[in-house]
Amino acid sequence: MDLGISISQSMHQQTDQRMVLEQRLEQKLEHQQRHTLTLQQYLQQEDVMTGLARWADEHDSWVTFKKAGFNFVYAALPYSVAKSAADVCGPGFAHCFYDDQGGFARGQWRLFVVNDMVPPEFVDFVAIHERGEQLSLGNHFWASKLEFAYVRHQGKVRSYSGWIDDKHPRKFNDLMQETLFPILPDDLLETLKLETPQDVGECQHGEALINKHPIPTLVLRYIDRYEQATQTALDSINDLIGPTQSVIKDIYRESSMLPTHEISKGVAGIMDKNIRGALLSLDRKTMKGLCRARMNLQLQAYFAFVCEGVHSNYRSDIHVDMEQDFDIAYKNAVSGKNVVSQFLTAEEEKSLNKIDDIHSYVIGA
Ligand SMILES: [Zn+2]
Repeated sequence: MDLGISISQSMHQQTDQRMVLEQRLEQKLEHQQRHTLTLQQYLQQEDVMTGLARWADEHDSWVTFKKAGFNFVYAALPYSVAKSAADVCGPGFAHCFYDDQGGFARGQWRLFVVNDMVPPEFVDFVAIHERGEQLSLGNHFWASKLEFAYVRHQGKVRSYSGWIDDKHPRKFNDLMQETLFPILPDDLLETLKLETPQDVGECQHGEALINKHPIPTLVLRYIDRYEQATQTALDSINDLIGPTQSVIKDIYRESSMLPTHEISKGVAGIMDKNIRGALLSLDRKTMKGLCRARMNLQLQAYFAFVCEGVHSNYRSDIHVDMEQDFDIAYKNAVSGKNVVSQFLTAEEEKSLNKIDDIHSYVIGA
């Protein structure tokens, strides 16, 4: 075999694969939903960030990052202090102040890294991502591209991607979100755009680094892996809607004379069995990297479709409840707890108790 030809063939295949992965990524970018936050939520977040920045002042924990043409400061926080923000945002987050208050000016940024959530050799990567959020005015995708460009520059693609896959696999699914965190209020974004940017040089430097080191193919593969897995998982829940509806139709046809709570029990039972089956059949290897926001939406859709069908076709007084948070629903399924259950209205409970009373009266007599 001619070694030269086989090497060039395999290089060719790799470029082809990269192109396919990049195309899929572009398609996904086009179809993404825009995340939004109310001003009230943003200001609540601002309170938390103000507290964390104060903590950093008091504990003198600002770190200067001056490497590879970047120059900024970030607060190094322990998880015990940053828990509430870190549980939602992960080991790094940034905030741009909305209000002039407590020593902060509108439009000022503070960057945070939760050091003890990250192996020391990767802390810089988290920090530079947050700097990217600031430079791009909250464009998470650009910040991620900058992060991985710097990772490539440092020659750490394999170890860093492996760590993310192990500890934060959902990051691969969120990576191409243009806005994720922080989500800046529109009027603040306008203010920032009108101001003369202070870090033009660093922006250009970042852009050049991204052009020199585009997202590594290995990372594109991880993204694709979890994207496909998410799609499969979404489909498997979507495919349940029809069969669930037709079993419910049978239940109703056979037992329409039963009291409502008995029918509710039957409906809840079949929904629970189906959704539990779908959750338990998810591929365990890719489970941890499924996009949680989209899984939540799909569970909500399943519940809404099935219930709407039941209410409009049969009876509006059939009551079932479903856990619609994917993580909790999955945990319930694994530990044998209900994902869907019937519930009784106060009135139903009262009339059922009456029946029980009569029963015990008759039996007792
Ligand atoms: Zn980000």
